Amino acid sequence: MYKSVIPLLQNIPELSVSENELMSNHTTFKIGGPARLFLDAYSSDAALRCLDTLNTHGISPFILGKGSNLLVSDTGFNGVVLKLSCNKVTVSGEHIYAEAGALLSSVASVAHKNSLGGFEFAHGIPGTVGGAVVMNAGAYGGEIAQVLTESTYVSDGKVFTVANSSHNFGYRTSIYKKNPGFTVISAEFKLFKGEQDSIAFKMRELSEKRRDKQPLEYPSAGSVFKRPEGNFAGALIEQCGLKGFSIGGAEVSEKHAGFIINIGGATCDDVKRLIEHIQSVVLNRTGISLECEICFI
Ligand SMILES: Cc1cc2nc3c(=O)[nH]c(=O)nc-3n(C[C@H](O)[C@H](O)[C@H](O)COP(=O)(O)OP(=O)(O)OC[C@H]3O[C@@H](n4cnc5c(N)ncnc54)[C@H](O)[C@@H]3O)c2cc1C
Repeated sequence: MYKSVIPLLQNIPELSVSENELMSNHTTFKIGGPARLFLDAYSSDAALRCLDTLNTHGISPFILGKGSNLLVSDTGFNGVVLKLSCNKVTVSGEHIYAEAGALLSSVASVAHKNSLGGFEFAHGIPGTVGGAVVMNAGAYGGEIAQVLTESTYVSDGKVFTVANSSHNFGYRTSIYKKNPGFTVISAEFKLFKGEQDSIAFKMRELSEKRRDKQPLEYPSAGSVFKRPEGNFAGALIEQCGLKGFSIGGAEVSEKHAGFIINIGGATCDDVKRLIEHIQSVVLNRTGISLECEICFI
C-alpha cells in the first residue's frame, strides 16, 4: 500500500518523501525510532495535495509540528508521519494569518515588528502554530484560545474553517485533541495595537523567566504533566524528593521538577518508566494523580 503511493507523493512539489526517517531528529526530546514513511510539506499546497492523496488511499498520517510535546517509541512508528513545515505569516491590520508550520516565535516576532500586542506569551513556546492550536498552548497567563479568531483544517480531503467558539478550548486541549484525523493547516489571530518597546520588553522579560526556571540547555518536551487543580505538578514532584532522580538517560530536572530531561542517550522506555515512577510516588505520598500533558506515539 505505502509502496504504491510513494511515486504519487514524490510528484508533489515542495513535499519531501523519505523512508525510515528517525523521529529523534524531529522531536525536542531527541528520542524516537524510525517512521516508516516520513513526509515534510513546505507549503500549504503541498500539504493539501499530500493529504488528498493519502485520503484517497485510505491512509491517515500522524501530523507532526515541531515535535516539542511528543514522546515517540524507540521502535518508531509503523505508519506515515506528515510534518507541516509550511510557515507563511502575513499581517492585515490587527490580524495575523499563519500557516500551521510557522513557529510561535516567528509569529511573535512578526507581531512585535508590526506593533501588535497580545502574542508575547507564546514567544518562548518552542512549537508550531498547528501544534499550539491543538494543545491550546499557553504560558504566563496567556493562551491560544485568547487570541485565535479561526482555524482552517482538513478532514477526509475536505477543508473547513471554524471560529474560535467551535474549538471547545480547555486547559491544554481543543476539538483537535479529540479528533486526531483533523489536520490544522492555518490559523488567524486577532491582536491589538501596542507600543513596540513595551511588546519587546514583555517578550524579553518572559524569555528571562523561562531561562531562569526551565532546563532549556537539555532536550525535553517541556512540562510532562498537566497542572493538577489547585496545585503544581513540579512542586508536588519536588516535595516527594524526586528532583534529580533518574532512570537511564532520563532525569527529573534539578531546575524544574515538572520537566524530564534527556541527559544523554535517554530512550523512550527510560522516560516512560520515569513517568510511571513519578506518578506512583506522587499518588502514594499526596493522593494526587498526575495526568500526562505530553503526547505519545
Ligand atoms: C522547553 C519547552 C518548553 C515548553 N513550554 C511550554 C509552555 O510554556 N506552554 C505550553 O503550552 N507548552 C509548552 N511546551 C510544549 C509544546 O511546545 C507545546 O505543546 C506546543 O504547542 C507543541 O507544538 P508542536 O508544533 O511542537 O506540536 P507537536 O509536539 O509536533 O505535536 C503535538 C500534538 O499536536 C498534533 N499536531 C501538531 N501539529 C498539528 C496540526 N497542524 N494539525 C493537527 N494536529 C497537529 C500532533 O499530532 C500531536 O498530537 C514546551 C515544550 C518545551 C520543549
